[in-house]
Amino acid sequence: MAFEGLADRLQSTLSKIKGKGKVTEADVKTMMREVRLALLEADVNFKVVKDFIANVKERAVGQEVLKSLTPGQQVIKVVNEELTKLMGGEQSKIAVAKKPPTVVMMVGLQGAGKTTTTGKLANHLRKSYNRKPLLVAADIYRPAAIKQLETLGTQLDMPVFSLGDQVSPVEIAKQAIEKAKEEHHDYVLIDTAGRLHIDESLMGELQQVKDAVNPDEILLVVDAMTGQDAVNVAESFNEQLDITGVVLTKLDGDTRGGAALSVKAVTNTPVKFAGMGEKLDALEPFHPDRMASRILG
Ligand code: GDP
Repeated sequence: MAFEGLADRLQSTLSKIKGKGKVTEADVKTMMREVRLALLEADVNFKVVKDFIANVKERAVGQEVLKSLTPGQQVIKVVNEELTKLMGGEQSKIAVAKKPPTVVMMVGLQGAGKTTTTGKLANHLRKSYNRKPLLVAADIYRPAAIKQLETLGTQLDMPVFSLGDQVSPVEIAKQAIEKAKEEHHDYVLIDTAGRLHIDESLMGELQQVKDAVNPDEILLVVDAMTGQDAVNVAESFNEQLDITGVVLTKLDGDTRGGAALSVKAVTNTPVKFAGMGEKLDALEPFHPDRMASRILG
């Protein structure tokens, strides 16, 4: 399960302080040393850990007194609130354009789960908001990508716009939006090209698509299992494209948690969704508060 190691360590550390009727500065210090190690071991970005510890220490020591909680419980409450804040605080929802269709560009490296997530997101939009998305196959380089999206479309009983692999992604995206307008689709989800690594030609192409369609949302799909690599990928994509949100996939696996806890702080871009499996219904809106509570038990 995701975050297992981190959850175990934090919970056992915090349980030592939980029942305490009096929490001294030394108690907080000892506890925070353990929390720091737990976070580093979970592959959370070094600087993120440092700031987090400083914030918790400051609040936990000069703590506001609440009658309903023991001092120990109050420290835990502070940790919970700071973890929530770290992951973005409030839940960040997907954009809705004032005038439909809302155009969403899906970007990411190969294997992260971009095409699958495009299908999952379409399913989520229909199921939760009664939307009518158009899926767009604009990944013309990976041989199986177009077919894969078409198969997902068939499974979902949703249309997929494709012009094969001989037309430029910019042209595909533009024509798809025209078609969406004609057929009254309220979301256009563009599955763009991925590569194994970030390179100039990939970014150049994505930039061209962005310039051509002016998307309301650019969602970066990253594999949570890759830890700090996922965060570095997010940083690069954000510098080049100004992404508006991140989807963390494979949170159903045994990821240590580093990516989930660092992405927002490092890139200032919220995680909007979490991929929780391979099936088409395995996409969940990302709730920082629920995630924090899950980690702290
Ligand atoms: P793309 O190259 O980024 O388009 O990646 P794909 O969409 O083809 O996904 C790569 C692999 O990851 C596939 O086997 C997917 O089933 C799998 N995958 C995608 N999202 C998740 C997820 O949230 N959890 C799990 N366990 N597998 C996922």
